[in-house]
Formats: sequence, structure tokens, C-alpha cells
Amino acid sequence: MKIAQVMVIGAGQMGSGIAQVCAENGYEVFLHDLKEEQTKKGIAGIEKRLQRNIEKERITEQDKEQTMKRIQASTKLENAGKADIIIEAAVENMEVKKTIFRQLDERAAEHAILATNTSSLPITEIAAVTSRPEQVIGMHFMNPVPVMKLVEVIRGLQTSDETYEAVADIASSLKKTSVEVNDFPGFVSNRILMPMINEAIYTVYEGVASPEDVDQVMKLGMNHPMGPLTLADFIGLDTCLYIMETLHEGFGDDKYRPCPLLRKYVKAGWLGKKTGRGFYQYN
Ligand code: NAD
Repeated sequence: MKIAQVMVIGAGQMGSGIAQVCAENGYEVFLHDLKEEQTKKGIAGIEKRLQRNIEKERITEQDKEQTMKRIQASTKLENAGKADIIIEAAVENMEVKKTIFRQLDERAAEHAILATNTSSLPITEIAAVTSRPEQVIGMHFMNPVPVMKLVEVIRGLQTSDETYEAVADIASSLKKTSVEVNDFPGFVSNRILMPMINEAIYTVYEGVASPEDVDQVMKLGMNHPMGPLTLADFIGLDTCLYIMETLHEGFGDDKYRPCPLLRKYVKAGWLGKKTGRGFYQYN
């Protein structure tokens, strides 16, 4: 299958990163969000990252120009009809994703693959709202997308081999390594990572140690490049909570119960780095 035009739904931290790596590797990209201000913010983020790469002599001014030329902002879902693959990276909420997939199914070209960057939600359930479940797949990029090498490729129950192979090929054309994973809550990455982050939050909640000290133990003691609470702030505490809820609901085991402190921070609007406050204060 020839893939030339990519559409990315959601121009937040993940969507803008996915749009960037696609454009850097020669794909034409529509970067879609609900409002123009969101697409502008996403595109400004891409421009800033590319500028930094020029300063570090990783790319030339011409590379940047060519990449930027391949990205078009979109606030109209009608553009979906022009894409060969659509990668959804909107918020981690099943109802939102189902609504988007229903709309994409109506508008996308018949041959188009519908992929989701969900961190934990069942691909099979998302695929079931479309008339093409064999063309629906999970394409889970890691944050920050331009830096991280892994893409977890998740097969829903009905995902076809052709769809899987096309997506694995796209991942390698983006210079990423893909790993094939079956559809279970949290897949591999977040089934292992999120309970660790949740446990780190419990240690703060129970007064065992401060966020700084929890992070220090995991960095110096376990050789993690970043402490779990710094990482949680970076991922977004709302996303962390959604993932824990998905694990809790999906496995029905109390060991996945989200820490009350995580809920409290999300209710307060302390979502981590993106809102300026989480376990740490930014700016
Ligand atoms: P974010 O909050 O930075 O961005 C989400 C964007 O989606 C926002 O710009 C929002 O306006 C847009 N949006 C919401 N509803 C929409 C709709 N109906 N149509 C179009 N756009 C819509 O979130 P993020 O961190 O980029 O996460 C996006 C997805 O990627 C989630 O599913 C998340 O679980 C997944 N993910 C996140 C990380 C991470 O570290 N943050 C890593 C891997 C995967």
C-alpha cells in the first residue's frame, strides 16, 4: 500500500510530535485539531524543535523549510478523505475516541488505515464503532516522539495482517523500531510503567518521602534517567489517571486503583508540565 498523505488528529504534545516525524521523513501531513489556536500551537512547537536542531547542527535551514512545507493545519474533518493513514492522538478518553473514529470512518477513503495513539484503551472496542475494523490498529508512539525510538503496534482482534505490515513499514520509514503487541489494557509499556508511577504517587500520599526524594531514589538507585514523578508530570497527570482507570477497569484488580492524590491533582487542574503545575512547579 502506498502511503503519501498522513492526517494526525489532535495537535497536542503527541500529535505535533507525530506530525513532525512524519513530515521530516517525507510524508505530507494534515495536523488537525478542534480549534485553529490548537493547530497553531502545535505547529509553533514543531518549528521551535526544528530551530533547536538547526542550532545543534543536526539539520539545515533548508531541511526545516521542507519539513514545515509538508505540514498543513486542519480544523475541518473533510480533509480526512485525502489521507492514506489517519493517526488519532486526541485525549485519552474512550467516548471522545469513539466519536472521532465514527466520524473518520464516514469521511476517510476506503483504503485508509485508521490508527490510534492511545496509551491504554482497547483497540478492539475503538475498531468496533467503524465499518472497517480490519483497518484499525494501535500505533503507540512514546513521548517525546522525535526522540524516542519505540512504536508499540497493537493489533485489535480483527486487525488484518496487511494493516499490521503497512503500519510496521511506516514506523520503520520514520526510523522507529516497532514491537508487535496484543490488545490488552495498557499493552506492554503502560501496564508496566503506570503501576510504578501510581506507586510512586502513593509513597508521597502516605508521607513516605517527598516527590524530590522519590525521584532521587529511582534515578540514583535504579539508574532511571528520570524519576517517576517527573515522568508523570511530563506525560500529563490527566493521561496517567485515564490509564490507571483503564487498567483498573480492564483487569478489575485493586492493585491498579488510582492513588487519591492523583485524582486530587487532576481535579485541581494540576496536570503537570503542560499546565505549569503537577508534582513540581514549572516556570
Ligand atoms: P494533549 O492534551 O497534549 O493533546 C490532546 C489534543 O487533542 C489537544 O490539542 C486537544 O485540543 C485535541 N482534541 C481533543 N478532542 C479532539 C477532537 N475531538 N478532535 C480533534 N482534536 C481533539 O494530549 P497528549 O499528551 O498529546 O495525548 C494524546 C494521546 O496520546 C492520548 O490518547 C494519550 O494517551 C496518548 N499518549 C500520550 C503520551 C504522553 O506521554 N503524553 C504518550 C503516548 C501516548
